[in-house]
Amino acid sequence: LADRDGKIWMDGQLVEWRDAKIHVLTHTLHYGCGAFEGVRAYETADGTAVFRLEDHTNRLFNSAKILRMNIPFSKEEINEAQKAVLRANGLKSGYLRPLVWIGSHKLGVSPKGNQIHTIVAAWAWGAYLGEEGMTRGIRVKTSSYTRHHVNITMTQAKAVSNYTNSILANMEATDDGYDEALLLDAAGFVSEGSGENVFVVKDGVVYTPDLSAGALNGITRNTVLHICEDLGLKLVQKRITRDEIYIADEAFFSGTAAEITPIRELDRVEIGSGSRGPITEKIQSAFFDIAHGRNAKYAHWLAKV
Ligand code: PMP
Repeated sequence: LADRDGKIWMDGQLVEWRDAKIHVLTHTLHYGCGAFEGVRAYETADGTAVFRLEDHTNRLFNSAKILRMNIPFSKEEINEAQKAVLRANGLKSGYLRPLVWIGSHKLGVSPKGNQIHTIVAAWAWGAYLGEEGMTRGIRVKTSSYTRHHVNITMTQAKAVSNYTNSILANMEATDDGYDEALLLDAAGFVSEGSGENVFVVKDGVVYTPDLSAGALNGITRNTVLHICEDLGLKLVQKRITRDEIYIADEAFFSGTAAEITPIRELDRVEIGSGSRGPITEKIQSAFFDIAHGRNAKYAHWLAKV
């Protein structure tokens, strides 16, 4: 990913992709205190648009606030940077990665007095969990790793360091032949995937863990809440057990990268009919209609590039 043509926005300027480098004594590289976003831009009839740009930028600033980092740019500048990298790389659609980290000025654990740096990169990225998974559903394994406790790492920050837990869970699941991991919270209730929120459908009602289970407050999750309301589906946020998923009619993941990915199996137990369920399909198609600008009600969620 490093040695290629293109531009990355780095501390206020578009620089050559292969020159966007940092020093090995970068504080965040050693201690993991940083924050990032994952954002997608989609093609619409009106041209390329970033989906829920302001919400992602707000979450980036909230993550930084939680981690006591002052981003030296305004939200407007970060929004403009995201549009600029899409344009500079000639992308009609793609994935955006804003990241803020602590510099290499000093390396004590205390970052006080160190500089905060910011980048925004963008590249093309298809279906995160595979094109086939979008229609057939994916196979998921409950992780042996517990999801973050709300007072150990800060679960409402999209913090760099939170992702070691995600990496371990994802590697364990994929090494065992599954597509993704499902993590439980410290009390044993369903939390989320390694990079996705989770939903189940039972008797026509849609359920998702409430955020006290340590899941990220996903922007796609929030989009699903809106879609359920529009479709007249009852949505309940509550504590969920893993066996509730085994006996659910349908299940799916939501995330910026994963979009709406159906889950067909958990721990080798087939969920419902063992393929994408009808309510999941409706929500998935409503999601793509919104993201691609085919639903006027949500035009305000699309930032034209
Ligand atoms: N949980 C985790 C751990 C994630 O990394 C993500 C992806 N950002 C999500 C949930 C979904 O959040 P969003 O819909 O905002 O991408």
